[in-house]
Amino acid sequence: MKSYSMMIAGQPVFASSTFDVINPATGEPFGKAQAGNAEHVNQAVAAARAAFSAWSRTPDAERKRLMHAIAGALEANMPELMELVTKETGKPMGGLNGVGSGMEVGGAIAWAHVTADLELPIEVIQDNDDARIEVHRKPLGVVGSITPWNWPLMIAVWHVIPALRAGNTVVIKPSELTPLTTVRFVELANTLLPPGVLNVVTGDTDVGVAIAKHPGIDKIVFTGSTATGKNIMQNAAGNLKRLTLELGGNDAGIVLPDVDPKAIATKLFGACFHNNGQTCACLKRLYVHESIYEEMCAELARIAKETIVGDGLAEGTQLGPVQNKEQLEIVKELAEDARVHGARFLSGGHARAGKGYFFEPTVVADISDGIRLVDEEPFGPILPVIKYSDIDEVIARANNSPNGLGGSIWSKDKVKAAKLALRLECGTVWVNEHGAIQPNAPFGGIKQSGIGVEFGRYGLEEYTSIQTLKIMKA
Ligand code: NAD
Repeated sequence: MKSYSMMIAGQPVFASSTFDVINPATGEPFGKAQAGNAEHVNQAVAAARAAFSAWSRTPDAERKRLMHAIAGALEANMPELMELVTKETGKPMGGLNGVGSGMEVGGAIAWAHVTADLELPIEVIQDNDDARIEVHRKPLGVVGSITPWNWPLMIAVWHVIPALRAGNTVVIKPSELTPLTTVRFVELANTLLPPGVLNVVTGDTDVGVAIAKHPGIDKIVFTGSTATGKNIMQNAAGNLKRLTLELGGNDAGIVLPDVDPKAIATKLFGACFHNNGQTCACLKRLYVHESIYEEMCAELARIAKETIVGDGLAEGTQLGPVQNKEQLEIVKELAEDARVHGARFLSGGHARAGKGYFFEPTVVADISDGIRLVDEEPFGPILPVIKYSDIDEVIARANNSPNGLGGSIWSKDKVKAAKLALRLECGTVWVNEHGAIQPNAPFGGIKQSGIGVEFGRYGLEEYTSIQTLKIMKA
């Protein structure tokens, strides 16, 4: 079984022990990663600090060129990376509505290119007889990146490329459940970057805690659960690290009565179930008007039953397994709780017997707020469909959540839908869509879904501090 090294100061680094990386489709290990520790974090931070001075002064055009070159290296290794993504996450190569490893690697490449081309122009806010005042964007120093298991390569690229583009150096720690694509990404990038600019330390929570606490790190960018985000915020307070936190979501979607359920069912199902519901901005609470409720439920259940679930490496698979056993247990628990509370299961509802962490795509009707499946983020292939009659009341219910990542309104009347969408308390709202993100539009959560945004100019600015330059004229 292949053992993947860490990468510190441009060199492969091996720890005294390794841990297994499991393929969730089989429950069997298929690779090994290094069990890094706080001492490896110290070494990586020292390397990143040493590299920062030269990297932050590297001409902008050269940093841009190198970011495009990293995207090119990912593209040149796309088949290998796709297979690795599928083996460690379980997601299919193709996937439901085209959401799979091909999209993950292709998306990472596209994001890297678009981010490479972003600019941080000097802003002149005064230029008169008294003085000229310019606002400059300066890199922060060393960025610590901590990533989750659901989109490991994509999210690593979302963190690393803007951080480097803005002139910072980076220490990244991938999820211990899915470390291998990140290790390969860092290896490939290191064939192009100066040593120490990008380092990776693999390991468990202790490595993340060491990064959050480290006095030599200036900023943390974290994507993961809200509970971990809060812990990181506490640990990062020691040296007032800057924070971008992309945390959990429990996104609501509201379907208005003017919609034809048959016309939107495929898109709506994809918004809820792509990547097995294991995407932060999947639609996780679906509110449907009572006049079309039964028809909408029946359409979603029909698609759920037709969906091909299996090993992501097999041709034609639309949904793979849940990524890990612990998450599967959460999904099972939420399903059982809904059952106990009298919910109606229209499809699925059970884990599959045999190997791997499979759970049938599950549509649950006759359920409402106050039941765990509605109130908590299931992060799995199970969707509660909730009946409503009054639009003001349903918007209040959608907003009655500690989370505020995304939300959507589905209607033929786009003007009315856009007005309603703006009443949802969340970072992104969609009309007749849900969860679709792109590299030029800011994305982030409000309330307990996070702090700050990623993507586009707004996202790039999060990797900088402002320096104001005032030049007196007299
Ligand atoms: P998690 O919080 O359990 O782990 C994420 C990472 O944090 C892992 O690398 C883990 O090792 C590390 N970690 C764990 N405890 C730590 C600590 N105390 N200090 C520092 N690091 C620590 O999250 P997960 O289960 O991997 O991911 C699923 C969650 O991520 C879901 O809630 C999902 O909604 C959220 N998510 C959010 C976004 C977004 O953009 N908002 C995107 C993807 C996933």
